[in-house]
Amino acid sequence: MVTIALSKGRILEESIPLLERAGIVPSEDPAKTRRLILATNVPDVRLIVIRAADVPTYVRHGAADLGIAGKDVLLEDDGEGLYELADLGIARCRLMVAEPQGMAQGDDPRTWTRLRIATKYVRVTQRHFALKGIQTDIIHLYGSMELAPLVGLADRIVDLVSSGKTLAANGLVAVEPILDVSAWLVANRAAMKTRYRALRPVIAALTEAQS
Ligand code: ADP
Ligand code: MG
Repeated sequence: MVTIALSKGRILEESIPLLERAGIVPSEDPAKTRRLILATNVPDVRLIVIRAADVPTYVRHGAADLGIAGKDVLLEDDGEGLYELADLGIARCRLMVAEPQGMAQGDDPRTWTRLRIATKYVRVTQRHFALKGIQTDIIHLYGSMELAPLVGLADRIVDLVSSGKTLAANGLVAVEPILDVSAWLVANRAAMKTRYRALRPVIAALTEAQS
């Protein structure tokens, strides 16, 4: 049996067509069912559907052989026990620094020395600004980062942006890109050695189906 861990939410929407291009069709629509383990038309391939941030954990422990996870999630993880096999080119977005429109007028990122930032992406944010010699006070949130500057919790946020509509709806603008993000195929390291014959055709099909 080959188990593939899928990230719920935005990545899932694009993972299903990718799986179908790879010849793997779930028995039920993963976006609609409450079931967390799904059989597929391929007898020895099954899917599990979990929170995006949990995909590295399931794959690292071998509870899933393969996984589809955002580069953002992979960089927040320590990467232990995982191979990043291929950029699947789906769920593209950017990790950006954003701030209130009023602050952005006349703000020049080249003059930043100390930032108070709310984000889910603590590790990537710290590393990004440490490399530039900018000090950060980071407030760790689990979601709805856009709210933080509106109520004085932070001056700026670091969040994923695709259309920019959520930022705009909250009076924020993106002012600096940190990272281009897309979803990657990852594998359990031990399984790549001990079960490569079973995994290889699935990896090949998914890699060829990438957009
Ligand atoms: P959660 O709320 O569990 O974090 P999301 O659906 O918001 O779930 O995000 C899951 C993954 O989807 C992220 O890790 C990222 O890789 C991707 N993602 C998030 N936001 C966007 C976006 N705006 N555009 C494309 N992909 C996104
Ligand atoms: Mg979200």
